[in-house]
Amino acid sequence: MSETIFTKIINKEIPADILFEDDRVLAFKDINPQAPIHFLVIPKTPIATTNDIGVEDEAVVGYMHRVASKICYDLGVAEQGFRTVMNCNNDGGQTVYHIHLHVLAGKPLGWPPYQDRLKVE
Ligand code: AMP
Repeated sequence: MSETIFTKIINKEIPADILFEDDRVLAFKDINPQAPIHFLVIPKTPIATTNDIGVEDEAVVGYMHRVASKICYDLGVAEQGFRTVMNCNNDGGQTVYHIHLHVLAGKPLGWPPYQDRLKVE
């Protein structure tokens, strides 16, 4: 797969506001936040989309959720709650093809999460 901007962040070729890092994952603030708290958790080994998650990736994808929760505890918002989102491909709104868990928190979040509404006849 081709390299994305997230590989450059992992390699410290471009800056990011990093919240957590170890050998498996990196978490950093989203540059265009959609909530008072909005950060991304990414695996250090690139996976293009949710559709590309293999059996060998199951552990790191679970770990991404555990790291999301740990950071929310550190930020004091885990008990109030937060939302995790992984956008997949065009209809899902994915723009960076290196999977990332969006973590949104800091206020009650609306549902459904998209702007348009389904028409129910
Ligand atoms: P998605 O649309 O689900 O692929 O989400 C990509 C996210 O990456 C968006 O929320 C962007 O604001 C975010 N993003 C893109 N470039 C950067 C960057 N250099 N640093 C932090 N977040 C970024």
